Formats: sequence, structure tokens, C-alpha cells
Amino acid sequence: MGVANSRSIAASIAHYLHKEGAELAYSHLPDEKGRMEKRVRQAIEQTNPKILIPCDVNSQKDIQNFFAHVKECYGKIDFLIHSIAFAPLEDIRCSAINSSKDGFLEAMETSVYSFISSSREACQYMPEGSSIVTLSYYGGEKVISGYNMMGIVKSALESAVKYVAYDLGSKNIRVNAISAGPVKTLAASAIGDFQDMMTINSSIAPMGRNISAEEVAKSAAYLVSDLSSATTGEILHVDCGYNIMGNPGRALDKWNITKAKPH
Ligand code: NAD
Repeated sequence: MGVANSRSIAASIAHYLHKEGAELAYSHLPDEKGRMEKRVRQAIEQTNPKILIPCDVNSQKDIQNFFAHVKECYGKIDFLIHSIAFAPLEDIRCSAINSSKDGFLEAMETSVYSFISSSREACQYMPEGSSIVTLSYYGGEKVISGYNMMGIVKSALESAVKYVAYDLGSKNIRVNAISAGPVKTLAASAIGDFQDMMTINSSIAPMGRNISAEEVAKSAAYLVSDLSSATTGEILHVDCGYNIMGNPGRALDKWNITKAKPH
């Protein structure tokens, strides 16, 4: 769930999992003119999808319909990738304190509650050993200027991952999030200072670079496979190590700051 075009993180995950032998079903955001379906189909057609169904995740009926079709076609679901987030532009482009109540609620519904409701629906068809993965960002743990209200939303998502992991643990279904470094996608273009985020990330991250969507996909393959059979409720950082830093590290050289220079 969450392919919008070929740049979507979900599209990279789909291609990687397909290469590893997975059979994939897709949902897409409905739109009246059918443009979204066309773009999504183009992005995933090489993965031989049997199912591509409109599903607004804020509609319980759509979610039920989607998973019922998947169950009918495949009999069971071994994993779910939830790669969906939304907030009105005006509510991300202002400081968190100025976000509107309606915008906040819409962002929480689309980006957090949809994860809970999709997991609830999908898990009915999941055998033991199945796995659910969602996508988060470091702005949910620490303040990242420019990420604003979405940081609060991602905190809630990461908490939801832990509670849903607890709920589904007794069914031996694992639930994890990947906290990805910045990747240029449609959703990312909503973040006002996104280019700055990329520059800051690559300057400060121990590995000195940004990530690729394929690197997220490889970690998703680990989390949906039994290679991660004892891992649940985890927030796995795929960010070239950015999250471990307590100061700008080697970026101090670039910024010509000498006093706090590390050894
Ligand atoms: P994207 O725009 O390709 O994906 C977002 C998806 O959400 C789209 O497919 C869109 O159609 C879908 N969506 C929005 N509202 C919906 C609704 N009501 N019903 C159904 N679908 C809906 O961008 P992306 O960057 O691939 O984002 C995927 C996930 O990764 C998001 O949760 C995002 O926060 C997270 N993430 C992205 C980055 C990044 O830098 N791009 C970093 C960390 C985490």
C-alpha cells in the first residue's frame, strides 16, 4: 500500500521483493480521472500484479474491500507494506504550533490510523510468521526543523507500531517500522526544506552520504522474511547512521567550526 509513482519507496520495495520471488497485490489512492491508477500501473507493471485496487485508507469499506480481494486471489497474506502518509501542505509548511486542528486530524487519520486499521484487516488473513512493515522518519524521535507537524504524527506511528506488535505478537505476526533517511519522492516534495534535509543528512551521517530507496527495500525484504523471525516492535533506521550522532561530527570541518571539533 502506497505506490504513487516509480519514485515511491513502496515501488522500490515492490521491485526488490518481486526479484526475491514475492507475489504482490497493490492498492492505490482513488481519483476520479483514473490518472493515479495509470501512474501506479506503470510503476509496478514489471512485477506482474494480479491485483491493483483503489483504496482510500480513510475509508473502512475500501480497506475491507481491498483485503477481501487479496484473500480471494491469493488465499492468504504473508506480509503487508504500509507506505502511506499525508498532511495538508499548509499544515506542514508552518511551524507545528500553528498547525490546524483539521489538518492535524487528517494527517493522523491517513498516516497513523490507516496503519492500525490496515493491520487489523490484513492480520485476519495472515498465517503465523507473517510480517507488517510501515515507514517512518527520524523527525518522529527528535525535532527536525522543517518536518514540523509530521514529526508528531510519526511519533504516534512509531508508538502504534509497538502497540500493534504487542497485539499481534500472540499470533506470531511481527510488526516493525523502517525509519528511512530522506529520499526524493512525491511526499518528500511537500516538505519545504527537503533539499536542505538531504544536505544536512549526508554531511552529518557517519557514512557521509544519503540513502537510496533500494536500500530501504533491502531492509524491508529482511523484515518481511524469516531472517528477522525474532524482531518485532522495532524501529529500524536505514539512514547511513544519521540517528546516532549527537553533534554534527565531520560536518564541523565543512562548516569551518573548529571549537567542537572531534578527534
Ligand atoms: P509517496 O508520495 O510516493 O508515497 C505516499 C503514498 O501515500 C502515495 O502513494 C499516496 O497515494 C498515499 N496516500 C496518501 N493519502 C492516501 C489515502 N488517503 N489513501 C491511500 N493512499 C494514500 O512518498 P514516499 O516518500 O514513498 O512515502 C512513503 C512513506 O515513507 C510515507 O509514510 C513517508 O512518510 C515515509 N518516509 C519517506 C521518506 C522520504 O524521504 N521520502 C523518509 C522517511 C519516511
